[in-house]
Amino acid sequence: MRLLVTDLDNTLYDWVTPFARSLRAMVGELAALLGVDEDPLYSELRAVHRRHHNSEHPFAIFELPTVRRAFPGATPEALLHALARPLAAFDAARATWLRLYEGVDETLGALRAQGHLIVGHTESIGPTARRRLRVLGIEQHFAGIYCLESALGPHPSPTWQDKGGVPVHVVPRDERKPNPALLRDICASELARPEEAIYVGDSLTRDIWMARRAGVCAVWARYGRSYTEEDWDTVVRVSHWTPDDIRREARLRVNAVGVAPDHAIDGFGELLGIEPTVAARPVRRRVRRAAVGEG
Ligand SMILES: [Mg+2]
Repeated sequence: MRLLVTDLDNTLYDWVTPFARSLRAMVGELAALLGVDEDPLYSELRAVHRRHHNSEHPFAIFELPTVRRAFPGATPEALLHALARPLAAFDAARATWLRLYEGVDETLGALRAQGHLIVGHTESIGPTARRRLRVLGIEQHFAGIYCLESALGPHPSPTWQDKGGVPVHVVPRDERKPNPALLRDICASELARPEEAIYVGDSLTRDIWMARRAGVCAVWARYGRSYTEEDWDTVVRVSHWTPDDIRREARLRVNAVGVAPDHAIDGFGELLGIEPTVAARPVRRRVRRAAVGEG
């Protein structure tokens, strides 16, 4: 293997559990602080996420109509102070639940020591993805991360400033997963042929379908769905998905019927024993050059 392209969420760490539990902790504290019901706060969060096309829009809480009514005209800095308890509840729950899957740090370190190049590929926006890799202590293993574009203004919290680090390559929204042409472009950008690369991810419809179509060895992280139904329901409750997104998802599921990975793993460490092999040569398709730039 020359290149490992790894999905991030639910391949290197469980994203669903910490996000859902942080959100519930924050909403609970916010409802108590303002003396309101929790239900409308979830609906308002969903509306903010839809506006930003991002279910993980940093500090979405500042934009909730209920919050704006409670603190009319407040600056982001004033809101940071006023909402300290709900924000602290979010941070505390995330610190409790955000954990790498077993063996991830060691395996990335070993692959890097063997001379393999490692890049990330995620549907998260750059600042969020980079920060999470840093918090988890694995940023140093990555030569770069391919992240979705975002329009994020300056952040009110000094602890949240993006201080740089691993290079972020911005992927336009219309190039998002599953996009075999983009994956082939990632290989080209990292100076690897598709057959020298491995793609690992937890989603059959996105990661595995894409890698198979791109002619890249597709490794399915089948351990990545080990979250509870309650936590998934919380994510869905505030998700930015529009009816169009839900229709797209249904199409992807139809596309991916019968897709099979080249390998399936039950722990990230199993990557160490895998050499890139693809089950069948992919159909040669015209590859459009994706707009991948430095972010
Ligand atoms: Mg994933």
